[in-house]
Amino acid sequence: MEFSLIAQTLDILEKTSSKIQQAAALAALFKKTSTNVIDKVVYIILGILWPDWRGMPELGIAEKGIQKAISMATGTQEAEVEKLYKSLGDYGLAIERIKSGRPSKTMGLAGFIKNSRATPSKSLTVDEVYSTFVKIASLQGEGSRDMKLRLLSAILAKAEAKEAKYIVRFVEGRLRLGVGEATVMDGLASAFGIPRDVIERTYNIYPDLGAIAKIIAEKGVSEIKYIKPTPGIPLRPMLAERASDPNEILTKAGSPALAEFKYDGERAQIHKKENRVWIFSRRLEEITHQYPDVVEMVLKHVNAFEAIIEGEIITVDPETGDFRPFQELMHRKRKKDIHEALKEYPVIVKVFDCLYVDGLDLTTKPLTERKEMLKRIIVESEVFSLADGIVITTPRELETFFLKAIENGCEGLVIKSLSPDSIYQAGVRGWLWIKYKRDYKSEMSDTVDLVVVGAFHGRGKRAGTFGALLLAAYDPESNRFKTVCKVGTGFTDEELASLPKKLEPYRIPFKHQRVDSDIEVDVWFEPVLVMEVSGAELTLSPLHTCCKGWIKPDVGISIRFPRFIRWREDKSPNEATTTKEMYEMYLKQMKKIEKIAPVGEEI
Ligand code: ATP
Repeated sequence: MEFSLIAQTLDILEKTSSKIQQAAALAALFKKTSTNVIDKVVYIILGILWPDWRGMPELGIAEKGIQKAISMATGTQEAEVEKLYKSLGDYGLAIERIKSGRPSKTMGLAGFIKNSRATPSKSLTVDEVYSTFVKIASLQGEGSRDMKLRLLSAILAKAEAKEAKYIVRFVEGRLRLGVGEATVMDGLASAFGIPRDVIERTYNIYPDLGAIAKIIAEKGVSEIKYIKPTPGIPLRPMLAERASDPNEILTKAGSPALAEFKYDGERAQIHKKENRVWIFSRRLEEITHQYPDVVEMVLKHVNAFEAIIEGEIITVDPETGDFRPFQELMHRKRKKDIHEALKEYPVIVKVFDCLYVDGLDLTTKPLTERKEMLKRIIVESEVFSLADGIVITTPRELETFFLKAIENGCEGLVIKSLSPDSIYQAGVRGWLWIKYKRDYKSEMSDTVDLVVVGAFHGRGKRAGTFGALLLAAYDPESNRFKTVCKVGTGFTDEELASLPKKLEPYRIPFKHQRVDSDIEVDVWFEPVLVMEVSGAELTLSPLHTCCKGWIKPDVGISIRFPRFIRWREDKSPNEATTTKEMYEMYLKQMKKIEKIAPVGEEI
């Protein structure tokens, strides 16, 4: 199959923001795609080599490398490539311009003539491009940089202008930020005539759209019904809604409900197959190597040949056994010497769900059944045990148990529906689980997790670092980031000093294409890093784009006195607080204070 088909589709996707048109373009591509490469086509469209949870190799070619490869491929001086990049803001556009032989303001006739040498001879195939990416990614160590550049420039030399543009964007990691999984699912549903929710449900328990596409194309649509949770392949986690009123919680969850301690640790999806154990994070990254102690516990305490269970890994004080906060677990993860880390930050595991055991898919079973299975297969001990919980029927019982959770060093409770349809909703944030946290008692009903999209240079004492960061919420509808506030307080001196270094890898010369901001900053960043922020209250602000026009024309939602709490390295940008959640929090807050906050700036 020719790579040009992918390039043409990417071109259409780039030109329209209509989800319907994007899905139609993808459906047309998938229909034309040969069965043997459909997985690769899906991955390339998503800007990946395979699902992240398989371990995403970096292609390992930085900006300067791309510049050099373009120069080698086209015979254009590196300085000219750089000039073009500076004027267009994108190496993809730069090579497209060079290859199509269009001279630009910054590039003289010399460049134009040189490029006529790079006329493609034979068409590039999808296989060729994909396997080159894999080869580039697999090269490591001494001499690998030159080899990577040679491979890239060879394929760029062969590519047509448009193909070259998207090959470069893939290598830069830009394609990853383009079309999301949701649109690819729409495209597959339409190409193969499958209900969208069937694909989504399959994706939630088997998050590999390339593999799913291949199964459908090779074996037929009916085959995806047989895809079930598989040890070694993480499921997308079920998430909890938030609420702050015990009455509302019981109405939503139903009575009786299960109230469970909400531990402040790291969520772990633990897979076991005979003697093999995998641990996946909330973001589906494999973190097994960070927890050799948990691996041992699983082999000792999980009495099943195959199992997928979920729990929270919490670090405890080695002397007293008391829970320590999440941040300390992050310290453990940063330690280079894992054995030292194990001693300094011992952990325990509290197991709260069971998704699969020995051939049986439990995700479609109600919570009571899953809990019974857990009791059957877990041999409890001090370090590996079931989450503490009780069945409650009244708000009063809920409040009493909440206080007990806080006394025990927990964040609060997760209240879980016990109804017959309380299935495990992989990948869904719904009312079957409701979190009730301590900080809901503060003025702003909860902290929020926002994405860093820009920064302002610091002055005076803060010269050399940043004075404030521009943060955004995620809007899943448009797959874009909408600004909420600038945050400049809450950082320790150390954290402040390290900000430029931490953010440098994400620095980009222009506002990112998925960021909506009416504010100009000194430095833009790719929307990657997520931080938790608290604040005094939510306010309306004409400066920010989060929920703009939802409450009043031309004003968005912002945070008054935002304050940095901590980095949320366990969250990807798409898992940041959504615009819809911001809106709901705002409405709830308004109900509480029953008056509209003044329009104004937040800092
Ligand atoms: P938060 O930012 O409040 O930690 P989150 O967005 O990371 O929330 P949510 O699904 O909203 O994730 O909240 C549930 C989280 O609480 C789970 O991801 C899990 O890590 C943690 N947790 C702790 N104890 C439990 C429990 N008993 N049952 C379910 N989740 C629990």
